[in-house]
Amino acid sequence: MVAPRRRTSRRAAVPNWPNTTKAPGVPSTVGLGMRNGTISVLVIEDEADIRQLLRTMLEREGFSVTEAMLGRDGVRLFHQKQPNLVILDVGMPDLDGWQVLERIRDMSDVPVLMLTALSTERDKVRGLNAGADDYLTKPFSRVELLARIQAISRRQVQRNEPIVSFEDGAIRVDFSESQVTLDGVPVVLTPTEYRLLATLVRHQGQVLSSDQLIELAWDDPSGLAPSRVKYAVLRLRRKLGWGDQDDGPIETVRGFGYRYRARAR
Ligand code: CA
Repeated sequence: MVAPRRRTSRRAAVPNWPNTTKAPGVPSTVGLGMRNGTISVLVIEDEADIRQLLRTMLEREGFSVTEAMLGRDGVRLFHQKQPNLVILDVGMPDLDGWQVLERIRDMSDVPVLMLTALSTERDKVRGLNAGADDYLTKPFSRVELLARIQAISRRQVQRNEPIVSFEDGAIRVDFSESQVTLDGVPVVLTPTEYRLLATLVRHQGQVLSSDQLIELAWDDPSGLAPSRVKYAVLRLRRKLGWGDQDDGPIETVRGFGYRYRARAR
């Protein structure tokens, strides 16, 4: 079994691409980082020449740049600065780029552009599975760098658009009204049950641990035992007519947590 990509509630709290940023216009990239406020970039790269090159290219576009020459410093600076974008080298002496990416992904959905000397398909797949947003293969040109950043920012703007509802044939969850319907009939849920369901469907296909669910769905998560989630899931399944069986839309993933199946039965 492939370990699930971890998610925590803190991810949402870390600011990523500014909401106000519009997708940059096509032909000119001048001032890319200045539109609607300065975009901060954290560059994590052990080679001084490349750090300097990135700084020059990015600052010319109006980005504000912070540099880290080691993976560990990068993680620490990520905490401190909460940048809008991370440019992350794969080959580094202490923590490599994959390890740094994993630590960043534990905290945040911030866009990450991986910098790699390897252009093989395998590395690309590995990085995208690990949660990288895009790739830049060394050596790169200024035009390539800015094109990658533009592509990421466009996707980020789309990602920031609020999702108003979820529907998969089994249920419909209206996030703006906090209402759940089953075949068009409203289902009465407690606020916690609603938030639990909303959290699961928002992360459809991903396994969330009991601790993560407590943090995301309970009003006061302090000191709650993981068994609270178990019983809430049981109640939710019953209210939604999915019985006590585990083959319904809400799946128990033994040893990991719970997942709303990618496709309902
Ligand atoms: Ca390197």
